[in-house]
Amino acid sequence: MHKPSIYGFTFDQLTGWLGEHGHKPSRARQVWDWLYRKRVTAFEAMTDVNGACLALLAEHFEIQTLGEHTKQESADGTIKFLLKLQDGNLIETVLMRHKFGLSVCVTTQVGCNIGCSFCASGLLAKSRDLTSGEIVGQIMKVQLHQDAAQQGDLVSHIVVMGIGEPFDNFENMVDFIETVKDHKGLAIGARHITVSTSGLADKIVAFTDRNLGVNLAVSLHAPNNELRTRIMKINRAIPIEPLMKAIDYYLSKNKRRVTLEYILLKDVNDRKEHALQLAELVGDRRQLVNVNLIPYNPVDEHSQYQRSEQESIRIFYDTLKKQSVSVSVRLEHGTDIDAACGQLRSKQIKATV
Ligand code: SAH
Ligand code: SF4
Repeated sequence: MHKPSIYGFTFDQLTGWLGEHGHKPSRARQVWDWLYRKRVTAFEAMTDVNGACLALLAEHFEIQTLGEHTKQESADGTIKFLLKLQDGNLIETVLMRHKFGLSVCVTTQVGCNIGCSFCASGLLAKSRDLTSGEIVGQIMKVQLHQDAAQQGDLVSHIVVMGIGEPFDNFENMVDFIETVKDHKGLAIGARHITVSTSGLADKIVAFTDRNLGVNLAVSLHAPNNELRTRIMKINRAIPIEPLMKAIDYYLSKNKRRVTLEYILLKDVNDRKEHALQLAELVGDRRQLVNVNLIPYNPVDEHSQYQRSEQESIRIFYDTLKKQSVSVSVRLEHGTDIDAACGQLRSKQIKATV
């Protein structure tokens, strides 16, 4: 029987669990410090923690449950980690280096059930949700890799944009965010964390109500229902109108811009008329949203789609600008190692399973 990762506890949960087993709250503080500040990988290394407490923890938990299968480093310093879960499933985590710091893209599920027509992750149906310990474990894997390289830099940003639909694994994703935000632990600022969703409107509302203060990105990808349903079948169940309503609810409670992600697919959604429709959809939210144009990374199995021409990207961008819509083009990292979003869980995994 595998033991779960202790990273799965938020600080309050750890305090509660230790309390139930007769340990004072100050013990939880000590253990937390060893896990996230000193970053030890074995309980016995927590030298100032009471021996009975360590024995109890070791009886019930492991620290890290993710094994490193392989690691690929790109010319631009991006590293893609292929990690092995206790049940043998493989997931991917990506470290990207920016001028503003280190960011990590985490996976939340093994596979994805949303099945967007352009996405490599959606090719494999979800086999299970990751536990919060496995999601936190990805950040710790990367941070410990940095520690070992003695580069001294800390993971400063997180994007929840790896394999899976984070809002389809809601509670574990929320626990993960609480853990990485904790001021006495990794202390990653809420404003440096972005969760991307394919648009589960009810969950956007529930997420807003948790008051986590993190950024929201929504995969829109089309300016009207007909086209969006063609690209993302989830749009049939949750069309653009309820989605925009949920976004408005988030905007009413957060002083943060929402990112609208828009993959440019050649001759599918990348024409000037689509940009104009998108500007209309944005409407009077112009000060409140940012459209992020994403150059498509071709996926072998989805050969019906191609990346838009540079010229079409430019025209799309300029059209939005002229309509006073805030717009950016996503910088790509690690394209030489297929580390871009949506390319995850692709070639190597198919070769290994
Ligand atoms: N499931 C969530 C988060 C993971 S996908 C979501 O869909 O938002 C993260 C981002 O990568 C999404 O905007 C997704 O649409 C995009 N993406 C997926 N496949 C891609 C591909 N082949 N090229 C570029 N972006 C892709
Ligand atoms: Fe799942 Fe996101 Fe890929 Fe759609 S784009 S299949 S929601 S991971």
